[in-house]
Amino acid sequence: MKYRTEGLIIKEQSIGEQDKLLHVLTKSHGVIKAFARGAKSLKSQKYAALSLLSYSRVTVHEGRDSCSIGDAQTIRIFSRLRQDVKKMCLAQYFCELALTACPRGQNAEKHLSLVLNSLYLLSEDKRGGDLIKPCLEMRLAALAGYMPNLLMCGSCGAYTAPVMWFYPQTGSLLCGDCAQAKSGAVALSEAALTALRHTVYADDDKLFSFALSDEGLKMLNAASEAYLKYRFEKEFKTLDFYKTIS
Ligand SMILES: [Zn+2]
Repeated sequence: MKYRTEGLIIKEQSIGEQDKLLHVLTKSHGVIKAFARGAKSLKSQKYAALSLLSYSRVTVHEGRDSCSIGDAQTIRIFSRLRQDVKKMCLAQYFCELALTACPRGQNAEKHLSLVLNSLYLLSEDKRGGDLIKPCLEMRLAALAGYMPNLLMCGSCGAYTAPVMWFYPQTGSLLCGDCAQAKSGAVALSEAALTALRHTVYADDDKLFSFALSDEGLKMLNAASEAYLKYRFEKEFKTLDFYKTIS
């Protein structure tokens, strides 16, 4: 069977001299794993279209045991990401997130659009990496069915407090008065809590539209990272690497 779709290359591995094994976040079939013959050759017309972080129109041939990519045309290359090591590392983390959190074998239009938007904002300096990252993390977790409960303190029902504690293990909140054991919990200022709620509850087109101080962004990132770690039960190697160079 053969189908045409659009997809973002989120992982590439070399196979021999000329070929690649790719993971592609596609619009119509979610994350697919597919061979691309000749894609490693610089002379190949498919070289640019089938490189990491390229967004391309592809023809996918589904075999009994594996998939392969036939035609491929580039729609967008985030070339400015490649000129900045820090941005490139963050973009690779976005790819690892997509590989972990996006569905297989089903429509992933929302996921793809979210990841593409994140890469675009990062590439064009429209938003800082520390603002884009928690938005993508929390939204991908929510799309994967891991919706945290950020409405109020889980004990007394307070909507806000000078300090609220976010428990990544359960995705819930306790206010400063109710929080007893704080092990593993992340402290959030009022502004950081508002931002965390925004990353989960805001409309898609408003997701990246907010401002937060550096201190607030630190809290927000600490909360989203911890949440992803618990929900997906993994350490993200590309995130560790991004942190070492930041
Ligand atoms: Zn409380």
